[in-house]
Amino acid sequence: MLLVYATSVLAAGDYVALRRQMVQQDIRARGISDKAVLRAMGKVPRHELVSPAYRSSAYADHPLPIGEGQTISQPYVVALMTEALELKPHERVLEIGTGSGYQAAVLAEIVREVYTIEIRPGLAARAGKALKGLGYGNVSIKNADGYFGWKEKAPFDAIIITAFANHIPPALIEQLRPGGRLILPLGNTTFHQTLTLARKKKNGEVELRMMGGVSFVPMVGKVQGNQPGL
Ligand code: SAH
Repeated sequence: MLLVYATSVLAAGDYVALRRQMVQQDIRARGISDKAVLRAMGKVPRHELVSPAYRSSAYADHPLPIGEGQTISQPYVVALMTEALELKPHERVLEIGTGSGYQAAVLAEIVREVYTIEIRPGLAARAGKALKGLGYGNVSIKNADGYFGWKEKAPFDAIIITAFANHIPPALIEQLRPGGRLILPLGNTTFHQTLTLARKKKNGEVELRMMGGVSFVPMVGKVQGNQPGL
């Protein structure tokens, strides 16, 4: 028991080295070039946001369990989605699907204000505590169904949905400012969705761009046409 435990614990310096390697090999080498995104991914302590049992593999090139059957995305996918939003430092971003809080922390390193909604109370509470502990005072968390967005805080410059849905929730398009960007895994099937970037034009029309295949956990609640059945 002790041995297993001992092999899964790394020193703080090891995490810094693993994070640097992740940014170089898995993110920069695959074409992510936005400096703010690279800086944020090089800074956020991902190992502090995953379940303790997975800490030593926090910087590996794949998704990880975060409890309640949910997963934190592969670092490259986090970088790809964040870069696609073309964020500016003064902007305000809404995230649907807080999960571990990792994506919210990456956003918080780049923009002024981050609002994030999580439907599972346990995950919302844990992420809130973790983000506060890490000093992310510019992140606000709400435990609710993200299908309806966060009307009081709208409009947003960008919206990121980190669970898959078969349509874009209309309220989220409404809460996006003209010129705003929204990204989500769009699809119907569990193991494959299409990463889709929506841009709201000045005249309110929405332009879509398909960015390739991804695999996310489903968005639940109203988007599925029923009450939250977690
Ligand atoms: N962005 C997260 C990972 C997201 S996993 C991270 O960085 O760790 C997807 C998350 O979406 C899960 O936590 C799941 O509970 C949440 N979710 C699913 N449906 C949702 C909904 N309708 N509203 C808000 N959150 C939802």
